[in-house]
Amino acid sequence: MATLRFKAVETAQNRPTVLVELPAEKVSDFFGINVFHDATVRKYISAESYKKLATAIEQGQKIDMELADAVASAMKTWAMAKGVTHYTHWFQPLTGSTAEKHDAFFDIDKGFSVLEKFKGSALVQQEPDASSFPSGGIRATFEARGYTAWDPSSPAFIMEIEGSKTLCIPTIFVSYTGESLDYKTPLLKSVAFVDKAATAVCELFDKDVKRVTATLGPEQEYFLIDKAMYYARPDLVMAGKTVFGHAPAKGQQLEDHYFGSIPSRVRAFMVDFEIEAQKLGIPVRTRHNEVAPAQFECAPTFEDVNLAVDHNILLMDVMEKVAERHNFKVLFHEKPFAGINGSGKHNNWSLGTDTGKNLLSPSSKPKENLQFLTFFVNVVKAVHDYADVLRATIASAGNDYRLGANEAPPAILSIFAGREMMNVLEELEKNATVKLEKGDNLYMKMGINKIPNIILDNTDRNRTSPFAFTGNKFEFRAVGSTANCAAPMTVLNTIVAQQLAQFKKDFDKAYAKSSKKDEDKNNTDKKELVILNILREYIKASKNILFEGDNYSDEWVKEAEKRGLPNVKSSPLALDALVTPKAEHLFVDNDIMNQRELEARHEIQLETYIKKVQIESRIMGDIALNQVIPAAVTYQNKLLLNLQGLAEAGLKDIVPSFKTILDAVKNISEHISKIQKNVHEMIEARKEANNLGNAREIALAYDTKIKAYFEPIRYSVDKLELIVEDEIWPLAKYREMLAVR
Ligand code: ADP
Ligand code: MG
Repeated sequence: MATLRFKAVETAQNRPTVLVELPAEKVSDFFGINVFHDATVRKYISAESYKKLATAIEQGQKIDMELADAVASAMKTWAMAKGVTHYTHWFQPLTGSTAEKHDAFFDIDKGFSVLEKFKGSALVQQEPDASSFPSGGIRATFEARGYTAWDPSSPAFIMEIEGSKTLCIPTIFVSYTGESLDYKTPLLKSVAFVDKAATAVCELFDKDVKRVTATLGPEQEYFLIDKAMYYARPDLVMAGKTVFGHAPAKGQQLEDHYFGSIPSRVRAFMVDFEIEAQKLGIPVRTRHNEVAPAQFECAPTFEDVNLAVDHNILLMDVMEKVAERHNFKVLFHEKPFAGINGSGKHNNWSLGTDTGKNLLSPSSKPKENLQFLTFFVNVVKAVHDYADVLRATIASAGNDYRLGANEAPPAILSIFAGREMMNVLEELEKNATVKLEKGDNLYMKMGINKIPNIILDNTDRNRTSPFAFTGNKFEFRAVGSTANCAAPMTVLNTIVAQQLAQFKKDFDKAYAKSSKKDEDKNNTDKKELVILNILREYIKASKNILFEGDNYSDEWVKEAEKRGLPNVKSSPLALDALVTPKAEHLFVDNDIMNQRELEARHEIQLETYIKKVQIESRIMGDIALNQVIPAAVTYQNKLLLNLQGLAEAGLKDIVPSFKTILDAVKNISEHISKIQKNVHEMIEARKEANNLGNAREIALAYDTKIKAYFEPIRYSVDKLELIVEDEIWPLAKYREMLAVR
């Protein structure tokens, strides 16, 4: 009997809204109170130490032990005053979530006196016994040594969980041999690389710029499900997604959920996690419903990419913890429900200078616009040249279900520039090499003065594009909702930096040549002409990646093929792009990752993929055999009893339902035997796949052979859901799970 299911429905329906109290009247009164941020640091250490620390952070210098001791002691004093008892190095291993190893401040010395201690050495470096973190062969499991090292550029914070408070110190995670085992290390390197390359290009326009930072504002989509419902679905518990479930009578076809009113229980949850996030200095602000029922989104204000990455991962953690209080489960999976929109994590990205300028924001001043255009075109060229590498960073078992699934961009990378920018680019490309006559206005002649002050409005937006220019930033929409933004952001920073460095080289060469030719020409105009001529060549070389139409359409898939754009649909193949000679040049030559690190990442991604599909396949088999078939048999027996009764009463040929019931019995039998056959074949296919030589082959087998059974098994199970009596059906139905209130 489906007791668990009905209990869950009842529990979920009767849940009261958990009241949330604001910690203070205004957000500004509690924003960042759990963060050891700049202003707090200043209060707790000497002016001299503070100066040293700030310089070290800004210039990326090493921090000596004396300074580390001072910072550690300050952190301890601050944290203990807030009731903190433990500290942990907080890091982002390649598993995708975060890892912590908690240590108590208190220490007992030889004379048995208890003391609260936190030394600089404990702040700077730790050795988590973490042989189980994936390292893709870099760190053999018997060699359990990996180190976490303090990242002073991301502030320490206090995590509160049901009464206990822990001081978390953001760190990077590296192997004994110095290779990165986490997401943060290459990200930080890419941040430095893009800073250097972009600043050098800025010098052509604005000598005041001394630093450029990549900025990120990640929009996070998620589903919210009642906790009781969640536990009534073993597939959600094990795989984070439903493997079965018939589409509900009312899905998202009315689109009445989008921007609709938020149910009070959900609103309470949102208010609560936003408060917790704000205490941690995470600037969350928007809150609205998404297209699908039970789907929501939140977006923080953008920050430096390093901090934004930490904050996004931390936010996901906070959401999961706060959800417990409200009896919800947050689903971050890219496709938790078939036939209903999936979830993404739009990565809004730009470059900002230390003089406060957004380099991807057009301006009304012609000179600044040339700078904008330079950065814009270089981003287009970078994405064009390295589309395969960028594609690899969004590859995951979950995202394979989302990309191209009618409501998410396809796996083809293209860029939406918007009508105005397309006009500008076309104009620039049309003009042959420009010769300036005396008295010519360069900007007019080149059409640059026509770059309008593109207004930020939603009308000229293409929501189907995987990589869209949205007026003052690019929005990488193909990133999956579970992803750590560090992976795509590392690559985006790196390819743009690489391209900007190339641009600078091209410029220097062409400028030197043109200077020789005519010495007397106005110097400024000449520089600008050289820039424009290079940009024109770039546009020609990369314009086939620009696409303004509907990315969801079949025509685009055909058109993209004609243009020669790669369309790699599944992860195991997409990941190949991480280990090509091209990728090696990109990452190794620019000192972002060495070859071993690249290979390790490739391997870890494949292993994660295999595990995810394997779990999904297993839970599918289990539920089908242990829950679905028994329920179907029970119902079948009920029908048989009915047939027997009719026959015994001599009504077999008189009552018309005899035939239809008999058909139903046959139908159930057919589905049962199909399920059995497919599940057993799938298990055999798994065994075969697991015996293959390397991770890539296994992953490919899981992608093509094992996943091939998912559809037919699901088809039969979902049909049975429609036939079998509701009272008996063991799995919470879509309509029940999605009706959050
Ligand atoms: P959408 O219409 O795409 O849902 P939102 O307003 O929800 O837009 O989110 C836009 C995101 O882009 C926010 O996180 C915002 O802070 C971010 N953003 C705005 N400007 C920049 C920038 N210069 N760099 C990076 N992100 C930015
Ligand atoms: Mg968006």
